[in-house]
Amino acid sequence: MLFYGTSKGHSLTSKKISNAKCPSCQKHESLETVAFTQYAHLYWIPFFTLGKKKAVVCESCGYEPKDKELSSIAKEQADRLKADVNIPIWHFAGVALIAIVALIGIISSNQNSKMVKEYLANPASGDIYQLKLDSDRFTTLRIFMVTDDSLYVNFNDYESNLQALNDLDESDRYSEDIYTLHRKELETMYERGEIYNINRY
Ligand SMILES: [Zn+2]
Repeated sequence: MLFYGTSKGHSLTSKKISNAKCPSCQKHESLETVAFTQYAHLYWIPFFTLGKKKAVVCESCGYEPKDKELSSIAKEQADRLKADVNIPIWHFAGVALIAIVALIGIISSNQNSKMVKEYLANPASGDIYQLKLDSDRFTTLRIFMVTDDSLYVNFNDYESNLQALNDLDESDRYSEDIYTLHRKELETMYERGEIYNINRY
């Protein structure tokens, strides 16, 4: 269940309106204007601001006149109070949170791709390469032995339709056949996106 909604008024401020009367009970000097801010929340975290709001209420009869019922003098006073309200910065907490999470995601994905390049440049036996065979066919290869210019590898006998390759990387799933790949070939496979991740345990 998703909990979202609108906050109550914040930064509430009020002021008596002078030189005006209530359009309902006609009492003079009885109107008060209220200005406040509101935000939209998601799970009670302020997400984004809904801006400034204002209201006018008669302290005598409780009537809440609309803008068009107010004299220009009264409306101007209400508008001025609203203009003076500041939107608190924490109204943007949710937006800030999303920005931070996105930034962390970008940084960690950059770090991961740096690590993959590092592994690719210095392969070691036991490295697991995640391979994309097709748009929905993925598998792994394991480096068996490394020489100056070649890699001896075992291919996984299994494929997955998920890029996550959960459970695919089990020792008994690798073929005993050994293939030779030139280092250049691996680099080309990486550049083409056929190698999309390398794990070293
Ligand atoms: Zn009134």
